[in-house]
Amino acid sequence: MSKPVRVRFAPSPTGPLHMGGVRTALYNYLFAKKNNGTFVIRIEDTDQTRFVPGAQEYILDALSWCGIMPAEGPSIGGDYGPYIQSERKETYRPYAELLIEHDKAYYAFDSADDLTAMRDQAKQMGMPNWQYNGVTRLSMKNSLTLSSDDVKNRIENGDPYTIRMKMPRNIDVRFNDEIRGWVVVNTNNLDDKVLFKSDGMPTYHLANVVDDHCMEISHVIRGEEWLPSAPLHVLLYEAFGWDCPKFAHLPLLLKPDGNGKLSKRDGDRLGFPVFPTNWKTSDGDVFPGYREQGYYSGAFINMLAFLGWNPGTTQELFSLDELVEAFTLDRVAKAGAKFDPDKTKWFQQQYLRKHDNKDLAKQLAESSDSTYSHESLETICGLMKERATFVQDILSDGAYLFQKPIEYDPKTIRKKWKDHAKDLMEEWSAVLKSIDSFDPSSIEASFKDFIEKKGVGPGAALPLFRLLVTGKGMGPSMFEIASFLGQDECAERILHGINSVQKLKEGE
Ligand code: GLU
Repeated sequence: MSKPVRVRFAPSPTGPLHMGGVRTALYNYLFAKKNNGTFVIRIEDTDQTRFVPGAQEYILDALSWCGIMPAEGPSIGGDYGPYIQSERKETYRPYAELLIEHDKAYYAFDSADDLTAMRDQAKQMGMPNWQYNGVTRLSMKNSLTLSSDDVKNRIENGDPYTIRMKMPRNIDVRFNDEIRGWVVVNTNNLDDKVLFKSDGMPTYHLANVVDDHCMEISHVIRGEEWLPSAPLHVLLYEAFGWDCPKFAHLPLLLKPDGNGKLSKRDGDRLGFPVFPTNWKTSDGDVFPGYREQGYYSGAFINMLAFLGWNPGTTQELFSLDELVEAFTLDRVAKAGAKFDPDKTKWFQQQYLRKHDNKDLAKQLAESSDSTYSHESLETICGLMKERATFVQDILSDGAYLFQKPIEYDPKTIRKKWKDHAKDLMEEWSAVLKSIDSFDPSSIEASFKDFIEKKGVGPGAALPLFRLLVTGKGMGPSMFEIASFLGQDECAERILHGINSVQKLKEGE
């Protein structure tokens, strides 16, 4: 029987979670749910120099907004905790020492200055990429070159040391990545990575492998940027004599223009958020997030799911549960996925339209200080939602449903306000006032009848009606708008509008 599926999202609290990170968490979550497995969150905070206060809280809050809820993790607990690496600090040293016992690792006493001197010297000799490896380690200060007494003394004296991987020479490391297929890397291209640091903390590599093993992680699903670390991880599993989890390295998210990796700067440059929720820096700068911009988390997640995966059908709208149902790793692409801000808006529009008017009215009432009745809000939602992207647009785009226009679309005036316009609209206002029942279809019937009698086409008359009542060149059905506003208000707006537009024309 195969092992139960256990996957983890393992962010480092070095800053806010980029949307690429959210996608990694999402794919892990989908994979776990699809396979009746467990989704775990683990905070990898062993690099204390890069720790950013507030980042961990940010990450957990952002994931919870997205509905990506772990079954085990820092605030939830679980049988494999603690789930924050700094709280597991004592776990790692014995493992590093075990590797030394098995001749897979060694103590290194070189100071930062020693290493810099070595690098400089190598550079002067025409070798710009000096590495601590199977060749160079022989001329460094470590437990392979120093006598065992010297090593013992140094450790007893409290001299600072690191523990380094004793990378074997000239071995092909192979593993079968679930997305990329076979990956083969020769160890001559790998250096003797530090596994345990002089500050008493493990490095990412050691902590990651030890924890994945101890937490019985079955699949490591993470970003492509970790692919170069995977051969070292495979060797570490081998060195410990542990089974290796399966690996799946996800494609990069690419900028909308060009081919580079999507970065925070692209968001600033092209005007879209790269973070799920607002991120406030310690200097008080705020980077925008999807949540605060008015996106529904469902739309955001749906969009992210499609960055690097597709269901193999034409269906594009998926709830989180439907994504769980449809998701498989074999439909994740190898090639980088281009982020498309317009498509993101499209998803948001589709999600907005799926809400019924009552629901949207409730959201509007909650998110604005509007004093309109629920009934009015419901009608305006019905009228405006097809054209809106965010729920707030409904109020701003539909402001004319509550107040007379203050401005009149210059383009419509230029194109449609001909000599006959004033008389035609004056007459229409009178006709409109005489309509018996002021519902959209009666208004429409009267309007058609009126323009037919006057011998003008709808393309000439309807934009004038709209311009005077709403100030706009485009919008939802004029007959529905008119019915919502009521007969007197409409007639009055038409007359008021004629005056204003005539004045504008005279001023030209
Ligand atoms: N802590 C790493 C990160 O910040 C995790 C990489 C992994 O999933 O192995 O992304």
